[in-house]
Amino acid sequence: MIDIKNVSKWYGTVQVLDSCSTHVENGEVVVICGPSGSGKSTLIKVVNGLEPFQKGEVFVDGVSVGAPDTDLAKLRARIGMVFQSFELFPHLSVIRNLILAQVKVLKRSEAEAVSRADKLLDRVGMLSHRDKYPGQLSGGQQQRVAIARALAMNPVAMLFDEPTSALDPEMVNEVLDVMVDLAKEGMTMMVVTHEMGFARKVADRVIFMDEGKIVEDCSKHEFFENLPARAERTRLFLSKIL
Ligand code: ADP
Ligand code: MG
Repeated sequence: MIDIKNVSKWYGTVQVLDSCSTHVENGEVVVICGPSGSGKSTLIKVVNGLEPFQKGEVFVDGVSVGAPDTDLAKLRARIGMVFQSFELFPHLSVIRNLILAQVKVLKRSEAEAVSRADKLLDRVGMLSHRDKYPGQLSGGQQQRVAIARALAMNPVAMLFDEPTSALDPEMVNEVLDVMVDLAKEGMTMMVVTHEMGFARKVADRVIFMDEGKIVEDCSKHEFFENLPARAERTRLFLSKIL
């Protein structure tokens, strides 16, 4: 589903991704962790064409992200993305947030879009809040709406960039629970998170990044159960967060 081949990226003269390669199979859940500044967000953004890169190739469902003739808007419509900060449109109600792109981009009828939106809001436990505005919701509620909004586009994969790190602690689980359900339903997911409980529960693989490099890319079992075999910096990092 997602194939990242030898991707390198520079901001000016500063290299932020260094020959990164990995792949995510259909239905696979891959958790990406690593210290701040290691390139996790950049890697995620490269996948849906939010950040250009200078070397290597990225394919999503067979489409080359870096090719000059690729329609990036079309590609992005097929990949759901949920960020750390709450990215809902503040001037639109919850239901309007969910139907806007369905109607504008996918050309669905208003009725069809509303019906899909209501189903998804129900699924994330937010149906009773459908007519509220984002400012009237807690961070955890906003993030659940953001996930529902992404799902409304029938994405082939979902990318998450630290979706719970800006939340008050008591709201983390309500968002993780939605993500766990999604993973169990077979959604293809790349998730940047330091929530290792989530990784243990549903990840198929764990990637550890440091200084723009993918240092580890192995099965969850290998990552957690065979720690002595992991690189020194991986162990050091894990010792701080586990
Ligand atoms: P992470 O998500 O792991 O914290 P990022 O992918 O956000 O790391 O950043 C990787 C590196 O790229 C960092 O050193 C960061 O300072 C740098 N960086 C990120 N965005 C920009 C930008 N727009 N311009 C210049 N440098 C950037
Ligand atoms: Mg980041």
